[in-house]
Amino acid sequence: MQRRLVLATAALSLAGMAQPARKPLIAVGGIVHETNTFNPKKTTLADFEAGIGGAAGILRGQAIITESRNANNTIAGFIAGAEAAGLELYPTIVAGPQTIGEVTASTFNTLMTELMERMQQPGGAGRKLDGILLFLHGTMVAEGHRHADAEVVRRVRKAFGDTIPVIVVHDFHANVSEEIVKMTTALITYKECPHLDARDRGEQASRLMADVVAGRVKPTQALVKPPLLYNILFHNTFAAPMKAVTDASKAAEKQPKVLVASVPGGYQYADIPAMGPSAIVVTDNDPALARREADKLAAMLYGLREQLVLKIPAPAEAVRAAMSAEKFPVVFMDTGDNIGGGSSGDGTFILEQLVGQKAMGWVMTIADIEAVNGAYKAGVGGEFDMLVGGKTDKLHGAPVRIRGRVKTLTDGKFVEPQVRHGGGRYWDMGNSAVIEVEGSTRDLQNLLLLTPKRVIPFSLHQLISVGIYPERQRILVAKGTVAPRAAYEPVAAKIVEVDSGGVTAVNPAHFTFKQIRRDLWGVK
Ligand SMILES: [Zn+2]
Repeated sequence: MQRRLVLATAALSLAGMAQPARKPLIAVGGIVHETNTFNPKKTTLADFEAGIGGAAGILRGQAIITESRNANNTIAGFIAGAEAAGLELYPTIVAGPQTIGEVTASTFNTLMTELMERMQQPGGAGRKLDGILLFLHGTMVAEGHRHADAEVVRRVRKAFGDTIPVIVVHDFHANVSEEIVKMTTALITYKECPHLDARDRGEQASRLMADVVAGRVKPTQALVKPPLLYNILFHNTFAAPMKAVTDASKAAEKQPKVLVASVPGGYQYADIPAMGPSAIVVTDNDPALARREADKLAAMLYGLREQLVLKIPAPAEAVRAAMSAEKFPVVFMDTGDNIGGGSSGDGTFILEQLVGQKAMGWVMTIADIEAVNGAYKAGVGGEFDMLVGGKTDKLHGAPVRIRGRVKTLTDGKFVEPQVRHGGGRYWDMGNSAVIEVEGSTRDLQNLLLLTPKRVIPFSLHQLISVGIYPERQRILVAKGTVAPRAAYEPVAAKIVEVDSGGVTAVNPAHFTFKQIRRDLWGVK
């Protein structure tokens, strides 16, 4: 009570000095998680703290501004837009880990409690918030909350009421629901994949927030969900067929009353009712126009479906074709075991075929500490006979019996001097081993690289450093979908995306869906 009196006096004296009007105070926060509900590995607070690939994990308070200001992400866009449009930002907490499985209930609640507590203390003489900007991935699933992003907004609305402007920015891989559209003042998603417009969308959100708090616009929005699964293999918005839809959404925003038009592709690894692409259009107080434009974009997307038929070979077929190829090396993308997407790194579907079909001159990497230890025990030149891979979970194939000879033991360290995906330079696989697998000849060796931990295949030096010459081999297997291309394209005669199983399988037929809407095109 006493504190409030003092503050009131301070406010009076400021008023007496005719201070310039204060900028609207806008809270900024974000819990950003892309949840693969098929991944049995739960996401914990430690995963949030670890962040993504060495970038800061959980940012709090002013650190959000200092760490993000010079980045090209959505928070940087919030900052730039706020500065341009005359908003004062009140940073709370922003957290985002790698893609893994469901967020544990305690992790979600811990982060939510902190977000809410920080939002409720905007500081600066007991000021009240004028608006809230949230960065949420749009496909977070937590234990107890299948649609965790909506739960975040629900709790914010409960604490701050129905009238405060709440603007949310989602990733392109958002599974947007009617529920979250109803609770937000405006919902904006990235338009581009790869996500080059993350910052632009943040800036757009801040500018829109400034217009809303000043009463210049009155947003109303409509969501239309075309009934299909838009396969992730076709998510490139810079190429056909998706580019036309993305261009149309950008063109729609040129209409004077259309504030935002988004067409996110959705995220097929979340078994939730909202799974799938969306068209969301925000207009200035014209619900019919919002609906009409969203209908148009959704129909356009649905009209592309015949161009989205998945035609990639299963492992058996891929190995057969590669064995009779004319130019080598053929590079396989092991899409089901995409380590960057959170898979185990010990998937054996392709290994099983390489060994079973007696392919020659292949290279594959498997994360298997037990097998590494076996190789170290045998020593260089020693005999190796063990079950390898498929040990982490039941989604990545069965262990495969590998017989051969230990060719190399190394400390697993290597350097990548060139720019590759993510830009890493110093790498450490941990003590690793190469097995020359039974059936190898002096010219055509079958080489299995065993590592103690999962290593994202972003660099050919992963192989070169252990004595493997990639360009001399016939088949190279990279555990990823798109990211390894930068490393492998320079040596590949051909790159083949293989329809392998695993938590990152691109073919939805590998999964049993229970909660998605029925009869979605592209699921089977
Ligand atoms: Zn994304």
